Amino acid sequence: MDDEVEAALRRAAGVIREAEGLMAFTGAGISVESGIPPFRGPGGVWGRYDPSLLEIGRFRADPAASWAAIREIFYASFGKAEPNAAHRVLASWEGEGLLGFLVTQNIDGLHRKAGSRRLAEFHGAMDLLLCERCGERLAASADLLGSLPPRCPSCGGLLKPDFVFFGEAIPREAYRASFASAEEAGACLVVGSTGTVYPAAELPLAVKRRGGVLIEIDPGTTEFSGLADVRIPLGASEALTRLDALLKS
Ligand code: ZN
Repeated sequence: MDDEVEAALRRAAGVIREAEGLMAFTGAGISVESGIPPFRGPGGVWGRYDPSLLEIGRFRADPAASWAAIREIFYASFGKAEPNAAHRVLASWEGEGLLGFLVTQNIDGLHRKAGSRRLAEFHGAMDLLLCERCGERLAASADLLGSLPPRCPSCGGLLKPDFVFFGEAIPREAYRASFASAEEAGACLVVGSTGTVYPAAELPLAVKRRGGVLIEIDPGTTEFSGLADVRIPLGASEALTRLDALLKS
C-alpha cells in the first residue's frame, strides 16, 4: 500500500513538473486540519443546522433567524483558524511558478491568509459582509455582529456574509477567472473536494475533457476518483508536503 502511494506521489510530481499550466481546485478537505468542519458528511455542519437557513429567500424573509445560525456556524471562532501545511505548500508553489491558478470552494479565506494571490474564491469569502441595499463591503467585525441582524453603518441596509447562499449566482469575476483557467490548464490538482457541488465541480471536469491530467488528493473516494489519472489517498497536508519534498529533491 505505501509503495503504491509513493508511486502515485512520484507520478503526480512528474505531472506537476511537466504540466503546461497547473490549476489547483480545493474543497473542504483542505481546511479540516485547520479545524474547520465540512458542511457535508459525518460531523458536518448540515448534521446540526437546517441548510434552508442559508437559502437566500429565507434569509431575506427572516434575517434574524438566519443570522443567529450564521453567527454560530461561521463567526463563533472567527479569525482563529490558521492555514495548515497544505495551504502553505500551494502558496509557495505559486511563488515558485509551479502553480498557475488556484480555485477554492472554501469561504474561510485560508488560501489568502497563506499568501495565495492568483486565486478565485468561487463561493465568496466570510471575512467580508455585503450590504444588500447599497452594495458596500465591510470587514466582518465583532462590532457589526454584536446585534442581529447586522445593519450597514452607511445606509441601514441588511448585511449579508459575502459568500454564496443557496439560490444565489456565483460571483461573476470568480466564475470568469476560474473557467478561463480551466480552459488553459494542462493539469488540475484536486484537493479535498467531494465533487458534488455544481457549477464548481465542472472545473476539473473541463480540464479533463480537454485532455488535461487530473490528479486527486483525498483520503476517501469522491466523484472525481474514477476519472483521476493519479489518485493520492492521503490527507491534504501529508500529500502536499510529500509532493513538495519530491519536487525539491
Ligand atoms: Zn449600505
